[in-house]
Amino acid sequence: MSEFDGRVALVTGASRGIGRAIAFELARRGAFVGLNFAARRDSAEEVLAAIEAAGGSGTLVAFDVADHDAAAAAVAGFVATQGRIDILVNNAGITRDGLVLRYREADWQRTVEVNLGGVFHCARAVLRPMMKARYGRIVNLSSVTARIGGAGQVAYAATKAGIEGFTRALAREVASRGVTVNAVAPGFIRTEMTAGLAEETLAAFLAAVPVGRVGEPEDVARAVAFLASEGAGYVTGHVLAVDGGMAG
Ligand code: NAD
Repeated sequence: MSEFDGRVALVTGASRGIGRAIAFELARRGAFVGLNFAARRDSAEEVLAAIEAAGGSGTLVAFDVADHDAAAAAVAGFVATQGRIDILVNNAGITRDGLVLRYREADWQRTVEVNLGGVFHCARAVLRPMMKARYGRIVNLSSVTARIGGAGQVAYAATKAGIEGFTRALAREVASRGVTVNAVAPGFIRTEMTAGLAEETLAAFLAAVPVGRVGEPEDVARAVAFLASEGAGYVTGHVLAVDGGMAG
């Protein structure tokens, strides 16, 4: 029997990058995984096909995490169909970098709506069934940027720091109901989000990583799987750095 056999998980932004790796890891350990995507159905279908080819199971769940009503309806539909929800991984996120003086209001709004609003919308949508079942694991994706900042990343850093506050506060609200709420704070991970970085930026990042290598999505996925496990029931309100020692 696998660790997550019988468990139902939902991973937002699962069509690529870290979300894809998390979905894979949970499915590999036996969970039935809802793969959320907003626009990239083709990529999400590829992820599901690969999970199934590896012996796992799941389904696609389409919605924009920034849209409260859409998220509430889609998550409720998923939970009703599966009959339960044990694990929510709030992974979907965007980065729109720019220096504050030239930063567009629309970019600020969208970053807040997706990164912070998305966590709120999805967590709220799973809380009732989790509390009723007296069991749940919510894992949110923060970033090393929440702690160390980054020039040109004010909006992103603010939302990620906000996610950490949200995690600690919600953990206290639901702890007595068997629901844990934690976050992981990845450092520099090799995904499409970071693929566009200039050589010198990459070199500067690497110089600040004691482990001496770029992180892989699987490094983050294994940490998420721990926090999502039954055995992590005495860990809540915690932010786990997965950054090769970067934030110290
Ligand atoms: P990515 O851009 O490769 O993937 C993000 C995923 O979120 C994509 O599948 C995208 O389609 C989805 N998404 C974006 N907006 C959405 C929306 N409104 N609704 C639903 N889905 C949406 O990024 P990634 O590197 O895999 O990052 C995943 C998470 O990890 C993000 O929250 C990111 O902030 C965080 N993170 C990444 C790094 C890194 O180095 N890559 C470091 C720290 C934190």
